[in-house]
Amino acid sequence: MAGPISAANACRSACLLRTSGPILTLADSAFNVNHTVMNQHAKIDAPAARAKVDIRHSTCPHDCPSACALDVEVIDDTSIGRVRGSKQQTYTAGVICAKVARYAERVHHPDRLTYPMFRVGPKGSGKFARISWDDALDEIAGRFDAAEREFGAESVWPYYYAGTMGLVMRDGINRLAHVKKYSRFYSTICSTIARVGFAAGTGKIAGVDPREMAVSDFVVIWGTNPVHTQVNVMTHAMRARKERGAKIAVVDVYNNETMKQADVKILVRPGTDGAFACGVMHVLFREGYADRDYMDRYTDFPNELEAHLKTRTPEWASAICGVPVEEIEAFARMVGQTKRTYFRLGYGFTRSRNGAAQMHAALCIPAVTGAWQHEGGGAFFNNFALWKFDESIIEGHDAIDSTTRRLDQSKIGRILTGDPAALHQGPPVKAMLIQNTNPMTVAPEQALVRRGFARNDLFVAVHEQFMTETAQMADIVLPATMFIEHDDLYYGGGHQHISVGAKLIEPPGECRSNHEVLRGLGRRLKVDHPAFEMSPRELIDATLRKSGHGGIAELEADLWRDLQPDFRTSHYLDGFAHKDGKFHFKADWTSVPLGNAGMMGAWDQMPSLPDHWAAIEEADEAHPFRLATSPSRSFLNTSFNETPSSQAREGAPSVMIHPDDAAKFGIADGDAVTLGNLRGETTLTAKVFDGVRRGVLIAESVHPNKSHIGGRGINMLTGAEAVAPVGGAAFHDNKVWVKKADADAIPTP
Ligand code: SF4
Repeated sequence: MAGPISAANACRSACLLRTSGPILTLADSAFNVNHTVMNQHAKIDAPAARAKVDIRHSTCPHDCPSACALDVEVIDDTSIGRVRGSKQQTYTAGVICAKVARYAERVHHPDRLTYPMFRVGPKGSGKFARISWDDALDEIAGRFDAAEREFGAESVWPYYYAGTMGLVMRDGINRLAHVKKYSRFYSTICSTIARVGFAAGTGKIAGVDPREMAVSDFVVIWGTNPVHTQVNVMTHAMRARKERGAKIAVVDVYNNETMKQADVKILVRPGTDGAFACGVMHVLFREGYADRDYMDRYTDFPNELEAHLKTRTPEWASAICGVPVEEIEAFARMVGQTKRTYFRLGYGFTRSRNGAAQMHAALCIPAVTGAWQHEGGGAFFNNFALWKFDESIIEGHDAIDSTTRRLDQSKIGRILTGDPAALHQGPPVKAMLIQNTNPMTVAPEQALVRRGFARNDLFVAVHEQFMTETAQMADIVLPATMFIEHDDLYYGGGHQHISVGAKLIEPPGECRSNHEVLRGLGRRLKVDHPAFEMSPRELIDATLRKSGHGGIAELEADLWRDLQPDFRTSHYLDGFAHKDGKFHFKADWTSVPLGNAGMMGAWDQMPSLPDHWAAIEEADEAHPFRLATSPSRSFLNTSFNETPSSQAREGAPSVMIHPDDAAKFGIADGDAVTLGNLRGETTLTAKVFDGVRRGVLIAESVHPNKSHIGGRGINMLTGAEAVAPVGGAAFHDNKVWVKKADADAIPTP
């Protein structure tokens, strides 16, 4: 894992030591007080402090809906100090998570990759030697051309994901695929399921301004753990509690850090949120809380829904989701009696084989009560529909050949091991360029992924910031810039702002941006597309102009732009986005208005009306537990795996188990336990915890594989079959067995 340490990096580490100090953010402590952040910010704004450091604007690039507006201390042209949330941007509101507040630790990390390398030992041995950029790019281009000559262009698969959310650096790799007619990339690992479920109801991915949570009387945080994953949700929810006495409910599969802050805690079994939602709606109809006038005006089939829900009693729901009947009824009454109820729906509860149906079911509740009509009421998941970014230049849409296959990102294990169906019956993948992602750790079906990357006939170039477990399997490793070392364009999925994040400092050593790598390869591969010769700033400017957002200079001058539509539009008061203007209780899964790669999974068995769809990987005698791989607080997928403060906070990989289950299986707190299923096994430490329901296991993730006892990570257990109706990965939907680890599997200290 040790990467090269350059003199330049050693110098930056010294800078870091000079400038680092205790940094406390809202996410460091119980989620009650934010004055510490604010006060520290004020200190930095003082003239004396400003004389020492320059405070520059940026945007957090990580795969997190908050996309926080940042104030970065720039010390000199190669060093940064503290990072704070901008107080001026109304969604960030001065608050960021601890891991990004300490970003200097990551930028100036001694293990950063700083020069290109080529493999000199067996695959995965970690043995690399230095190489020049020219030689590295020549080698990659030569291997791509060779694969194309022998197996066809589709044997090359550029692979990426959201290690940066900047459009230029994240999505530019698609342009290479399009221009060269390489295999295209079908993005499924993150939001596909949730997006479909939401759009099935509203007709598009947008909702009530998330800042309106602050004027709600009841905030329902459902299937997301924002204390870990997007702290700003808590900022606005807590404001409602403080200023209005609002109540906060959390619906989730374990008593996580967000639920610990809640007034109402709804602990559901994984994959049963649809049943809970139906039980709640049954009570809303039964007890007169359904707003019939609103439903008549704004929804499609309210009478059919009511008749359908007659049998979805709280007793029926309770038997499925595990929530006691009285809790279902009490929650429903709170929702029914509180006009300003805001449903903040997350991704977590959609990472399940029935995830789209679950999202749709939860989303139906405010349409039954008419909460959408009221300020502080309604629902929100993401704002994908707001930006309307025309990425045709960045992605080279003019070069798309729709006959070229689109390979499913989540099925990388099957693809690299030659599964004909996953390969669309086409040629094998023989060469890859990987940017911004670490599939050797984060992709499902790790047993297959490992076998695939171990192939000696597969050429892999990885462009990365650290020697990740994927980079260790590469033939060529290229050093990548971080966000403050290049220019890019960002949007906030969890809010409504767009912004430019400018290059603030020079990168260490020989690091290059994703765009520079694509440009270098483009020249060697003789591509003919103007975007390869444009600078990132030119690409940003052109994209903004094509999208109707003015140019880069205006956006930089404004720092960000707030694209929230007016109240009536945000609340769908002039109609929902379906052609009939109605909210659809009755989902048509075949015509959800989103780009996709065709119908997948058991889409024809999906319920159209909200329901519990029993398509989950239910526990059975051989696999008595259901496992969710929920996000940890200090890692973001595998970003921050390398920073000492995140490592210290997360410790070793562990799995939460209910005390009664632990006793039944003879497991004590701290024991090494092995979890397994048909896909594989992993060994980690048991954490006996009464905040999960019996039969449920929670493993906060994603730790490096090598941190697990035996080196097999949590994604040995997760599956890659496409989730209906258009694909996705069910990371929180796994049946497993558990046992105390064999003594010989545990290393002696
Ligand atoms: S909360 Fe999310 S967007 Fe904000 S700084 Fe942390 S990782 Fe970045």
